[in-house]
Amino acid sequence: MKELIIVNFEEIYLKGQNRKLFARALREQLKKKLKAFPELVFGKQRGGSLFLELKAKPDAERRRLMMEIIRRTPGVTGLYSVWTTGTDKDKILEAALSMARERLARGKSFRITARRLRKDLPYTSRDLAVEAGALIASQLGNPVDLTHPDWTLNIKVRPEQTLIYDKIVPGIGGLPVGTSGKGVVMLSGGIDSPVAARMMINRGMQLTAVHFHSMPETSPQSVEKVKDLTRVLTVYQPVIKLILVPVLEIQRAIARHTDSKMRLILLRRFMLAIATALAEEEGAGALVTGDSLGQVASQTLENMRAISAVTSLPVLRPLVALDKKEIIRRARDTGTYDISVLPHDDACAMFTPDNPETRAHLGYTENQWQRLDTESLIREALLQKEEHIFRFNPENIRKFIFHV
Ligand code: ATP
Ligand code: MG
Repeated sequence: MKELIIVNFEEIYLKGQNRKLFARALREQLKKKLKAFPELVFGKQRGGSLFLELKAKPDAERRRLMMEIIRRTPGVTGLYSVWTTGTDKDKILEAALSMARERLARGKSFRITARRLRKDLPYTSRDLAVEAGALIASQLGNPVDLTHPDWTLNIKVRPEQTLIYDKIVPGIGGLPVGTSGKGVVMLSGGIDSPVAARMMINRGMQLTAVHFHSMPETSPQSVEKVKDLTRVLTVYQPVIKLILVPVLEIQRAIARHTDSKMRLILLRRFMLAIATALAEEEGAGALVTGDSLGQVASQTLENMRAISAVTSLPVLRPLVALDKKEIIRRARDTGTYDISVLPHDDACAMFTPDNPETRAHLGYTENQWQRLDTESLIREALLQKEEHIFRFNPENIRKFIFHV
């Protein structure tokens, strides 16, 4: 008897060449995340499934961790642990009984669902279901319940082997990282931008993160927060580069030379302009932000227009139509919420005027922008950038997802 982990990916609309690329990307992502699990050996791909073989039985804790790592991989729609035997009936019954012994809790009801994908066998699907049910009921004392069972055991007799499994664990779906191009996400320490990053990663984009800080006016802890947020995001994209860019000099120049109510808009423009330059270096084709329409007074259509006119790249705003409640739900699910709500000093807070512009005119924005030596301010900031690479570590799941 062998144990496999079968990983399903979207297959309904995937055909031919596309499915091949998809499967290859998914395999690559899983390999990066499962380095610490040498007992898991990558096998073949059949249709919309990848087969991983377990060479040694993990304990419950290790199995849970392994399943969670796979489950949280973009592109995975479901996974299940499967025991395999040949097509000999007694062997199948024996395996069904041992799986029930391991996974069917005492006193819980169960049912058996059996299917045959070959017909030249000396038993029917019904024989299998009835005999396995009777064996488990008599050996373990659990009651059979065909309509509302607490637990279901599936037996699938395929031409080459028989699969025995219980539940299918849902995956996070989406597309494997790397299949939808590259982007640069603007990562602040708040609740929104990490959720925006997670959504685009889940959609197959490979992201580089950029964070703008105002050290030494703001504390190093605020930067540490963003590093921790990036660590959580490695659960979904196993290798992430975080670029830290200082903007204090830019803020000073803005404060000195421009209309105070335009400060925030001009700073955001610098952020987008710098992110655009970084995108070029990274070979990225889009920027990603955590903007949500109307969430704060400054996130208006006029402001979005005045700000994003500085870049020719598409600015993706996956949260634009989501309610705060929904964003918070997603932040919790992603594992970033508890970090995001820790106190931090925002690069913008100290610098925000009492009357920030909520409906910036593009012409006036350009006019204020021209008062600054934007080119050299951007160049200077880029010269001082700092890069950090974060790699997935199973500890990140324990710490940020399981909270242990
Ligand atoms: P968040 O919760 O992501 O901080 P927010 O609701 O506070 O978002 P704003 O402060 O208006 O919104 O920022 C809008 C977006 O601009 C952020 O979601 C983020 O993508 C980007 N941004 C803001 N400040 C920074 C920063 N210091 N570094 C990088 N990106 C930033
Ligand atoms: Mg913010």
